[in-house]
Amino acid sequence: MKVPYINLGLQHANLMNELLAATGKILGSGQFILGDEVSKFENRFSQLCQTRYALGVANGTDALILSLKALGISIGDEVITAPNSFLASASAIALTGATPVFADVRSDFNLDPEKVEKAITKKTKAVIAVHLTGRPAPMDELLSLSQKHKLALIEDCAQAVGAEYKGKRTGGFGITGCFSLHPLKNLAAAGDGGVITTNDESIYKYLLKARNHGLKNRDECEFWGYNSRLDSLQAALLNVKLDYLDKWTGRRREIARFYHDKLQSLHIALPGEKPHEKAVYHTYIIQCDERDALKEHLAAKGIETKIHYPVPIHLQEAAKYLGYRKGDFPVTEKQTETILSLPVYPELTKEEVGYVADSIIEFYNKK
Ligand SMILES: *Cc1c(COP(=O)(O)O)cnc(C)c1O
Repeated sequence: MKVPYINLGLQHANLMNELLAATGKILGSGQFILGDEVSKFENRFSQLCQTRYALGVANGTDALILSLKALGISIGDEVITAPNSFLASASAIALTGATPVFADVRSDFNLDPEKVEKAITKKTKAVIAVHLTGRPAPMDELLSLSQKHKLALIEDCAQAVGAEYKGKRTGGFGITGCFSLHPLKNLAAAGDGGVITTNDESIYKYLLKARNHGLKNRDECEFWGYNSRLDSLQAALLNVKLDYLDKWTGRRREIARFYHDKLQSLHIALPGEKPHEKAVYHTYIIQCDERDALKEHLAAKGIETKIHYPVPIHLQEAAKYLGYRKGDFPVTEKQTETILSLPVYPELTKEEVGYVADSIIEFYNKK
């Protein structure tokens, strides 16, 4: 049996007629950037996230950059984020001219609020909390910390569409929530796309202009802005897919529960979920000391796994000027050596998921 890590073609094959009809409608309309389909998607996305506003942009990285810009963050400012995230959580900070500052995470892969507090200086303006793997970050602690130190809190929700913390959806806690619609994310465009959610009217009004060259109408430019808009074609495809998101999330959670039941007696750490959390399992990451040997064993059995991420951001070449060293973030660095992402996409069959679990059990029985 072959189990690829992801199979995007399969998701589309199941919806092909609906997706082609939506595509045809856009091609015939001549409206390709923003427009009715994008507005419809934005309305539906804001309902999904229980926020007042949602705004389509070109990708998740731009969602972060535009959010930081909306807060006036620039040269001389510091913004704290997690070193174990996808690198865009940090590059977005650097690209505004500000300095990314890292704080270590806890065993749930999310920012450790105590470490965040220690990293605060007079220059700190904001915290970007990443809901990594689709599990919500500790929002109560991070929000009260931000209030105490008068910092803005931005949520990086790229992996967490539909995730909940104490019954409330991610994207509605911070000043903005930044989502990616990249093909590998839980709600995926056929290309790049992103969304910013917010409950703040003035931020929303700024972002409407900032994503479209700073134009306040067709001909009048109020400030230099970006070209960062969502395509109508992507929005039309996403409007089809939105109908299935709940079902897909349910299936991801079902697979996660299955892995948990099958693997819990082995000598590996499994993703957890506290009673007040609802995770959406963008990734299902196990941790074990024999990670490389297990990855090889699974590859030999036709099962593809991934490592998210093999190099922490503070040790990337691009981050060299920040002066971090190996040993600065022990929890992140230890996780880098032990993490392994198993296939968890909704289209996996019962047989495939069973085969993955059995193959892991076989590895440990052999040892
Ligand atoms: C994917 C991702 C991003 C970047 O999103 P793009 O749409 O690829 O620009 C940012 N942060 C995290 C945590 C991500 O997983």
